[in-house]
Amino acid sequence: MRSVYLTEPKKLEIRQVETPVPRDHELLVKIAYCGICTLEQRLYDGERKIYYPIIPGHEASGTVVAVGSEVMTSVKEGDHVVLDLVNRCHSCPACLSGNSNLCENRFKKGQRVLGAFSEYMVVKPEQVQVIPHELPLDQAAFAEPLSCCIRSLRKAKAGLGDTILVSGAGTMGLLHVKAALAMGVRVIVTDIAKSRLDDALAMGADFALDASDGQLFVDTVKSFTHGRGVDSCIITTPSVCAVETAAKVLAPGGTLNIYTSYGDKPVLPIDMNTIHRNEFVITGSEGRSEYDFNTSVRSLANRKVVVDDLISRIYPLEQAAQAVEAALSGKTYRVLLKMEE
Ligand SMILES: [Zn+2]
Ligand SMILES: [Zn+2]
Repeated sequence: MRSVYLTEPKKLEIRQVETPVPRDHELLVKIAYCGICTLEQRLYDGERKIYYPIIPGHEASGTVVAVGSEVMTSVKEGDHVVLDLVNRCHSCPACLSGNSNLCENRFKKGQRVLGAFSEYMVVKPEQVQVIPHELPLDQAAFAEPLSCCIRSLRKAKAGLGDTILVSGAGTMGLLHVKAALAMGVRVIVTDIAKSRLDDALAMGADFALDASDGQLFVDTVKSFTHGRGVDSCIITTPSVCAVETAAKVLAPGGTLNIYTSYGDKPVLPIDMNTIHRNEFVITGSEGRSEYDFNTSVRSLANRKVVVDDLISRIYPLEQAAQAVEAALSGKTYRVLLKMEE
């Protein structure tokens, strides 16, 4: 089979390797599609290092082609599945408290991480969830990124009747929009790119506002919310001023969730007295627990969240480098790799 290895920054190699054989308690999955996430982009440009060589890829869908004799779940050959490739130990305090996205052992030395830029992959039964055949496998590859947005919305305590601000209309911002709308939330999106704001409206956002004029933006959000501000803000763009602006439109008692990661370590641009007087809740969200992942899978399977319009390009495995470059260009939403010939 073929696998895509990142051997050093900006260097992807397609290698012909032995197709792995699952052990008794494992499954073999033939990968169909894998999305190219920010993590893969950061690994490619060298901003983030895990180990070399590494097979990137963690947003994958595929078909089960072999099931080990000791596998206890009901998964069977021919099932369509999505992969949840994070390592969870199920015994640390984070795992035991429902926050397995923060598993203390998830990066422990010797564990394989990622790995889905490959034609086949051996996984543990707990790393797959079965999806209906009616859900196209390219859309199913959004199960992982959508699950991270669902966690983010949970951290922001978003619910029916709320108005939220999603700051940043990239792939993750727009996935937040779709999930929030499906939850009955009124959504305001902000960005500085007009085309992305237009796309947000086409995807159902209630309001899409240009953030370039800060005061106009604040006044407009206040007018949409009877002067009160929004119930929560979710930051999906690493621009620090997005947090500053969000704090100006957050209602008293509101929650601000830092969803995005940052290349450096910027300081929170909100004074502490403002947080005190308004009882703002400032939180973050990273990754997803198995609960978030399962919610994501079900909402895609039930077609309550439909993501076809977020697929910008699909490249064959042999064009992995072009695919990652396209993802990095800033002109695309999700770019997928298609593993099957
Ligand atoms: Zn991802
Ligand atoms: Zn753990």
